[in-house]
Amino acid sequence: MPDSPALSVLRRVFGYESFRGEQQAIVDHVTGGGDALVLMPTGGGKSLCYQIPALVREGTGVVVSPLIALMQDQVDALTELGVRAAFLNSTQDWQQAKDVERAFLAGELDLLYVAPERLMTDRCLQLLERGRIALFAIDEAHCVSQWGHDFRPEYLQLSMLHERWPQVPRIALTATATALTRAEIAQRLALDAARHFVASFDRPNIRYRIVEKNDVRRQLLDLIRGEHPGDSGVVYGLSRNRVQETADFLCEHGIDALPYHAGLSASVRAANQSRFLREDGVVMVATIAFGMGIDKPDVRFVAHIDLPKSVEGYYQETGRAGRDGQPASAWLAYGLQDVVQQRRMIDESPGDDVFRRRLGQNLDAMLGLCETVECRRVRLLAYFGQTITACGNCDVCLTPPESWDGTVAAQKALSAVYRLQQRGQRYGAGHLIDILRGKSTDRTRQHDHESLSVFGVGQDISEQTWRGVLRQLLAQDLLMVDGEGYGTFALTEASRAVLKGERKIMLRRDLEKREKTPRGGARGKAPAVDLPAEALPLFETLRAWRGEVAKSHGVPAYVIFHDATLREIAMARPATLDELGHISGVGARKLEAYGADILGQVR
Ligand code: ADP
Ligand code: ZN
Repeated sequence: MPDSPALSVLRRVFGYESFRGEQQAIVDHVTGGGDALVLMPTGGGKSLCYQIPALVREGTGVVVSPLIALMQDQVDALTELGVRAAFLNSTQDWQQAKDVERAFLAGELDLLYVAPERLMTDRCLQLLERGRIALFAIDEAHCVSQWGHDFRPEYLQLSMLHERWPQVPRIALTATATALTRAEIAQRLALDAARHFVASFDRPNIRYRIVEKNDVRRQLLDLIRGEHPGDSGVVYGLSRNRVQETADFLCEHGIDALPYHAGLSASVRAANQSRFLREDGVVMVATIAFGMGIDKPDVRFVAHIDLPKSVEGYYQETGRAGRDGQPASAWLAYGLQDVVQQRRMIDESPGDDVFRRRLGQNLDAMLGLCETVECRRVRLLAYFGQTITACGNCDVCLTPPESWDGTVAAQKALSAVYRLQQRGQRYGAGHLIDILRGKSTDRTRQHDHESLSVFGVGQDISEQTWRGVLRQLLAQDLLMVDGEGYGTFALTEASRAVLKGERKIMLRRDLEKREKTPRGGARGKAPAVDLPAEALPLFETLRAWRGEVAKSHGVPAYVIFHDATLREIAMARPATLDELGHISGVGARKLEAYGADILGQVR
């Protein structure tokens, strides 16, 4: 039986042997003219789901994407594969746009990337009317969700594509996937009748770890030096200042780190992004504004130095690690201050109660993940409605946390809050812990807190452990941050049962010592993939060759070939073009362009 047209495009153009997971079903459905809503984790292989139908169907595939800064790279990568691709966005001058429009009308484009605000202009809509459209792909479809972290108002208008071109299939794709977001996407994009494809969200190569925060910059530095020297990584922080300070700190300690946040000019941001994409081993320290659509395959770690606001956002961000399927780390440091700060931000956030309640629920889910004594991945996937067994590749599975009966400690802490409340006073963590530990300070003397019955009842517990107790009480809603903006504590409805001894409280024991797991070997640029020693020299030769080619074409190295492809070449040592063509990632166009060079390098 001859290959289907889709399979032959996969092999000839992309150089891949077979479809992964749901790709085949999605490609067939859309090629046949059906609408689809595709939920797949980052790195799952979404692009092929619209690129292949666009190549198989007649006309141009129109891709709606919010990522103007990445369109050039996307188009370059396709051009390297011999696909006829172009984009229309505000970075072009009039003549460039004119050339693209002409090519589209002449039927010379397989794929056309358009920013949503551009698409909605009369000029663009009229252009599309005059050409032939194979399909509409709506990338990053979660941008239509007003509750989400990437909301783009222009996305709300995209339902009109369906009214204007009822015959053209539409495929919406996203890596964000709670049932709620999914329903919202389907409704707002008028995709109710579309077939939904929900892939497994598991990313088994990513190791999840959540550690107790003490000296976070030092902890981060240990992580990078100990486990990821010379690796590409992303560090997420909550604010501009935090990002800038952390980037500076890393640079002072010899790490090749760059900042990315809204306080930098667009040109600095673009330059930093470009260096991160093009060079090996750059660490990007960023706010969550960074990362959507970044398809760098060899990001080895994603570190969060502040608590993310939702599990959905967290999963999306960590998913940027290890798209190439090689081992990668997701690391999060979190502490009492994070909980206090976020609860306060929610109280102070503009918007109605419904909105605030939703933010509160998002935070609770995130806290549940942080404090869990279950496998992290089981928790994460449960959040997306998927069930797995314990993963063996998260901190909880690898070193199961101890739990301890914290009922008495909780009672002591809550009654201290209660006694203060009785006096009409509220305090934050520091002073509360001083009272519990019986530490005499100016403040305890001044406010006569040393006469409280709870003064010194918690001497047997260290300050750090008390912070852990308070943090977990906050996370479990047994304590709340009151609305006065100072991060002070108050009791909740649920506190009473604990105080009355009606409820037992189990707490997670934090590791008091900093854990260290250095990954043996020398510092410096470690090879991104483990290879048998005899293949290593060729691999390095090929990498150097790739670096030169990428530079002369002005594209990131992975656009020429992925590490995985070079690795396979280094091991297989192909002697002929035919043998080389069988290696995954070597399609017809690249074989033609680079085959002879590569064979030369192998020899
Ligand atoms: P997503 O957009 O879902 O994050 P991509 O489309 O960027 O993921 O794909 C992730 C990586 O997997 C890419 O490097 C891509 O080339 C590769 N890939 C996708 N599908 C296949 C396949 N069927 N066989 C081999 N590699 C694939
Ligand atoms: Zn696990």
